[in-house]
Amino acid sequence: MSTRFFFDNSYARLPARFYIRQAPIAVAAPRLVFFNAPLAEALGLDAAALAGAEGAAIFAGNLVPDGAEPLAMAYAGHQFGGFSPRLGDGRALLIVEVIGRDGQRRDIHLKGSGRTPYSRGGDGRAVLGPMLREAIISEAMAALGVPTTRALAVAMTGEAVLREKPQPGAVLARVAASHIRVGSFQYFAAQEDQEALKLLADFAIARHDPAAARAENPYVALLSGVIARQAKLIATWLHIGFIHGVMNTDNMTISGETIDYGPCAFMDAYDPATVLSSIDHGGRYAYANQPRMAQWNLARLAEALLPLLAEQEEAALELAQAALGAFAPAFEAAYFDGFARKIGIAARMPEDTALIEDLLRRMAEQGADFTLTFRALANAAAGDAGAARAQFTDPGALDSWAEGWRARLAQEADPARLMRASNPAFIPRNHLVEAAIRAAEDRDDFRPFEALMAVLARPFEDQPEHAAFASPPKPEERVLATFCGT
Ligand code: AMP
Ligand code: MG
Repeated sequence: MSTRFFFDNSYARLPARFYIRQAPIAVAAPRLVFFNAPLAEALGLDAAALAGAEGAAIFAGNLVPDGAEPLAMAYAGHQFGGFSPRLGDGRALLIVEVIGRDGQRRDIHLKGSGRTPYSRGGDGRAVLGPMLREAIISEAMAALGVPTTRALAVAMTGEAVLREKPQPGAVLARVAASHIRVGSFQYFAAQEDQEALKLLADFAIARHDPAAARAENPYVALLSGVIARQAKLIATWLHIGFIHGVMNTDNMTISGETIDYGPCAFMDAYDPATVLSSIDHGGRYAYANQPRMAQWNLARLAEALLPLLAEQEEAALELAQAALGAFAPAFEAAYFDGFARKIGIAARMPEDTALIEDLLRRMAEQGADFTLTFRALANAAAGDAGAARAQFTDPGALDSWAEGWRARLAQEADPARLMRASNPAFIPRNHLVEAAIRAAEDRDDFRPFEALMAVLARPFEDQPEHAAFASPPKPEERVLATFCGT
């Protein structure tokens, strides 16, 4: 076989109770419909070989590359607040760990690769539409500068998958710093398996927080590291209008990468109460609830780690509380620093918070498009407020805010440049994602998908020839609900 992976399967060396070894289930007719050659090269893979039939076979799960040790990882999780002690990879497999050109270790996972012992009632399969959706949105997030898993390939299986109706099956090859989740710790905590808990924590420290190993209390340092990464990550989501949609503890990483793109979506008009997921009836994971839900998830992580934090329960609880207490200030600082940059302020001063909140309040009242309003501010600072004003039903609401803002910008060196680098022109708008999926699923036409991927790879450039990709949906194009597509 020509495709050599530079592998080192560290997770597969953990004790047997961490996973179940399982090969992908072969499919009828592998066909590669997306291949991320630049990512493959960055990972040190043979991109030319993988772009052809061999890649199709590997990414559909029909061929296990040399050195791979496929396994389904065990984990638990709180799903919409209810605890499941045993979830695990029910339709995914960790195939191989590779060391990239940057020296970083990454997992290559297949999602939709067939049944595993964790499948419960599910068929272990995935549908083309949701896999293209994950490819589009995760790659867009990466280009927007958000920590995220990446999409390496999407292979169609040539098999139908039965959902409400038969749908084309597909497998997504996903790349992640690791697939350790909050729910991975909950799995062993629920079984009171402290030995496994410690092994997992040591594994996570070696992989994501090597400095924690030298800390006075390495497990407190690990917890604090996860809290700091998640606080920053959620702030970054809010800066671009991203709504994850299923922030269950099994969908929250220890690495700080965004993971598990299901019914996620970007909001068009700014409304903090926005919920797009069809399964989120109570609005638990609404846009503005995300920091609170992240904190809730991190409290579950702290609970799981308690036996490692200190021998006495009371002391452990105190350490956990102190670590969790850092979330809110870390989130707030990241949140306001980011919004300050979005309005052209490089180093935030205390009074800038009110300026930011005032703008957001006016945008919500006026139904302003989140992305277009911020993108237009760079021009507004230079005196051309037309595009920004157009986002407001009553443009006077922007004008009266902008007076104080312009006065503040007089103290900034190059606010227009900062704003253009902080406010994307292009986000994966739901109606465009939907249209790309429809063309692929219904007409076997991948051109809209490819065109969208190309535009979203350069979100901070104007690309005037692609202006249509920047526009919000027309009323008849609006997507009111997104589906997880399991
Ligand atoms: P998710 O909502 O995609 O994060 O998945 C939650 C849990 O359900 C995980 O344990 C998945 O592996 C499992 N799951 C989701 N879809 C399927 C499926 N089609 N077949 C088997 N298990 C699944
Ligand atoms: Mg999941």
